[in-house]
Amino acid sequence: MPRPLVATVDIAALQHNLDVAKAHAPHAKIWAIVKANAYGHGLERAIRGFSKADGLGLIEPEAALALRELGWSKRILLLEGCFDAADLHAAAAHHIDIVVHSMEQLVLLERAELAEQVDVHLKINSGMNRLGFIPAICRDVYERLRSLPYVRNISFLTHFANADDAFNPALPLSEQMHRFQMATQGLEGERCLSNSAADLLHADCAADWVRPGIMLYGATPSPQTAASFGLQPAMTLRSEIIGIQHIARGDAVGYGSRFVAESPMTIGVVACGYADGYPRHAPTGTPVLVDGIKTRMVGRVSMDMITVDLTHLQNAKVGSSVTLWGDGLPIDDVASAAGTVGYELMCAVAPRVRMIEV
Ligand code: PLP
Repeated sequence: MPRPLVATVDIAALQHNLDVAKAHAPHAKIWAIVKANAYGHGLERAIRGFSKADGLGLIEPEAALALRELGWSKRILLLEGCFDAADLHAAAAHHIDIVVHSMEQLVLLERAELAEQVDVHLKINSGMNRLGFIPAICRDVYERLRSLPYVRNISFLTHFANADDAFNPALPLSEQMHRFQMATQGLEGERCLSNSAADLLHADCAADWVRPGIMLYGATPSPQTAASFGLQPAMTLRSEIIGIQHIARGDAVGYGSRFVAESPMTIGVVACGYADGYPRHAPTGTPVLVDGIKTRMVGRVSMDMITVDLTHLQNAKVGSSVTLWGDGLPIDDVASAAGTVGYELMCAVAPRVRMIEV
């Protein structure tokens, strides 16, 4: 009998969220971002959920090849490009688009003498200072790419640092747009800028393509709720109460005795801990649902268990269903209580958690 902890992935929710992304950028094509094992949801499920996407984007070369083996025949984009010549040859052989974001990668490509043609995406550093060429040298890089016989189409992309906070004085969205436009002015090729936050909040950023990730899984990077954008949670993490303790005023719960009851309480023990991906730093008060009713986590998160307050839930018993996040409890609410983001929670679901689809 396996532990009662299960993550369900709702394929229809993935499909629905893709439709929401499309509705926000009706004239753009969509790279559905599936890095980190489709944000923890599984590549196979992503293929079914995003079958209407124009392409899938990710960073892991081996996962890109796995997508081909799983039967994805549309475009694939390697967002961090290739790490060595073997990656380049494999990408070309499997019709995988590559990003070129640095001089080192450009030189690698120039020396590769590929047998097949590849589509190349020139990444521009428009201010985030992570990956990409500074605008001043984009034209030169473009010309060098153009001169390679095995480079078919050249496209342009950049990544926003603050699409969820467009007026951030350190780097406003408009400044990144401006630098991108300056860098690509007069150069022929498709453009792609928007992540989820830009897709949802800044329709003017949608160019030829958009690259949403988190919204497709039903969470949001913006302060507005995912539900307010019509997004549906794709992953629900559920477990059960596996033990109950009745404690008196002054009794403590869990490691470090961090939580001390101020009055008599009923404590439920839930089969899910940090070794399953539940955030270890989630504090007392982090929301959970027991039989669909909202209550709070109390005490420290252990490796395999958390403890929750059942004091006012008369009907709760061993075997009661516990929702850690997902259907009825937005992952963003749990993430924000734990001082993190939905991205991290999704990606951290451990391999020992059974994942099934509905
Ligand atoms: N494009 C790039 C280059 C990324 O690194 C990411 C994710 O971090 C995305 C698109 C998707 O971003 P989001 O999940 O915020 O939509």
